[in-house]
Amino acid sequence: MEQNIRQKIVIVGGGFGGVKAAQILSKNQSFDVTLISDKPDFRYYPRLYHTATGGSSNESSILLTELMAGFPVKIIKAEVTTIDKQNKTVKTDHDVVVHYDKIILALGVVTNYFGIPGLDQFSYGIKSNEQAEKLKVHLHRTLIEDKKPDHHYIVIGAGPTGIELAGQLSFYLRNILTKHKIKNHKLNIDLIEAAPRLLPSMPAETSSAVFKRLAKIGVKLLVNHAVQAENIDYLTVSGKQIKSHTVVWTAGVTNNPFYEKNKFNLNERGKVVVDEYFMAEENIYVIGDNAASTYSGMAQTALSNAILVSKNFIRATNNKPLIKDIPKKPISVIPAGKNWAAVVWGKLKINGYLGWILREMADLIAFHDLEPWWKAGAQWSTEFQEEHKCSICD
Ligand SMILES: Cc1cc2nc3c(=O)[nH]c(=O)nc-3n(C[C@H](O)[C@H](O)[C@H](O)COP(=O)(O)OP(=O)(O)OC[C@H]3O[C@@H](n4cnc5c(N)ncnc54)[C@H](O)[C@@H]3O)c2cc1C
Repeated sequence: MEQNIRQKIVIVGGGFGGVKAAQILSKNQSFDVTLISDKPDFRYYPRLYHTATGGSSNESSILLTELMAGFPVKIIKAEVTTIDKQNKTVKTDHDVVVHYDKIILALGVVTNYFGIPGLDQFSYGIKSNEQAEKLKVHLHRTLIEDKKPDHHYIVIGAGPTGIELAGQLSFYLRNILTKHKIKNHKLNIDLIEAAPRLLPSMPAETSSAVFKRLAKIGVKLLVNHAVQAENIDYLTVSGKQIKSHTVVWTAGVTNNPFYEKNKFNLNERGKVVVDEYFMAEENIYVIGDNAASTYSGMAQTALSNAILVSKNFIRATNNKPLIKDIPKKPISVIPAGKNWAAVVWGKLKINGYLGWILREMADLIAFHDLEPWWKAGAQWSTEFQEEHKCSICD
């Protein structure tokens, strides 16, 4: 009888890292690949801000079955809760046990409110399609039901996510106020940051260009302002209360609790310590946002980690020497309202319409990283679909 010598590869997490690894490895005859993810779809986070402000949910979500069409991958929709490192198995929330020879973990990060009272209950978020849709419905409901839009729409966190959302909100809110025939309404869009400047991890000149742009489109930046609490009517910031029913938290994420629960070796930021091959422990590989690597936290990093680990799995089956990771600084592209983005690409810094074009190209390339060109083009063009979830605006 012929012996099955294909290695069982289990990949957990249907995001950038997990999907890319599953696509590469499943095309190789040496592996049987299983992808386990707790959601049926892949989330394209960079466009969630647009989904929340009148864009379609299609632009930030692609079904895993669609992404894996043509790839011999077994997809299991379940949450992995525990790993038995001795017996090389994982267990899901439905008590299904899956055996692996090698496993790749790419679970992404989770929201962190740093224990600030009320935020988990009252703030909105844009870390998932459900959150983006909830925010969109809320923006319209306040206009339809009581005709009382907020005077202050508040975004907390002047990192890339906060900036792209605040910039777009400025255009979107003015647009829907007009459609709802609400005139003479004083509208403030406040972007709150605890650090002394926006984009604290980026070059000062980019920070300054984005600051000027936000001021021009009506976003007020409050730096050195620490959020202390939120209740049903107010946000407390540096001792002052601001009345608002629309507070969006974009200021904090933390590593997936799975790793602490399963006793992985974590660094001081809670990320999993890995070697230059992304191996955390024997036969266990951790990539993307979860790994304590130099540029962890970006989609491009998750993709390049997945490519390296997959190539090394293939090289190992051919007895070829393994390739070490050489960290490559990702390109940062931050949109701030319609047709404007700041780009930092090595030493090159571009702001304005050209930056926006680069952002559009980056989205197309990112889709093509996971799909053939024709599908990537169709996915990219979903940006032009409008979806307001509002009887007046739709
Ligand atoms: C709003 C926003 C905007 C962003 N914009 C950009 C950008 O413009 N450019 C950029 O480079 N990066 C951006 N990022 C960061 C980028 O999206 C992440 O770095 C990237 O998604 C990380 O990929 P990953 O594979 O590590 O994790 P993810 O893509 O987060 O995927 C993790 C997957 O694992 C699943 N999962 C989690 N826990 C379990 C479990 N226990 N069992 C099974 N499945 C599980 C999740 O549901 C998810 O499908 C943005 C992030 C956010 C939130």
